[in-house]
Amino acid sequence: MSDCIFCNVVAGTIPAKVVARNAHALAFHDLNPQAPVHLLVVPTVHFDNAAATDSDAGQASVGHTMRLAVQAARESGLVDSGYRLVLNTGTDGGQSVGHLHVHVLGGRRMTWPPG
Ligand code: AMP
Ligand code: ZN
Repeated sequence: MSDCIFCNVVAGTIPAKVVARNAHALAFHDLNPQAPVHLLVVPTVHFDNAAATDSDAGQASVGHTMRLAVQAARESGLVDSGYRLVLNTGTDGGQSVGHLHVHVLGGRRMTWPPG
């Protein structure tokens, strides 16, 4: 989608600090980090959010995206300390960019419940 921020990051028309990629997903630094490590991992194909992935193609894409999120967390040194994976979905979920993305947050102790 030409007007989608993360489709443009995938296409390279919006610059990003890419840390990892596989054939189906891309991991890059969040512009406004909320933790010492804050990455975003997006499928290279556009899905609006997790609620839009109830199909074989959608589930495959989620799998590849989660796999890259775990790889990026490992390569960021978060295995021993742990980390949080977040998929904000829709308005009350706090989703502000309408392209499925997994936040990888680490490097500090997370709190619960989330705000
Ligand atoms: P969410 O609120 O879950 O939709 O998360 C969207 C995230 O995208 C926020 O944490 C933003 O800081 C981040 N963001 C927005 N635009 C960009 C961009 N061009 N490059 C990197 N991160 C971005
Ligand atoms: Zn998109």
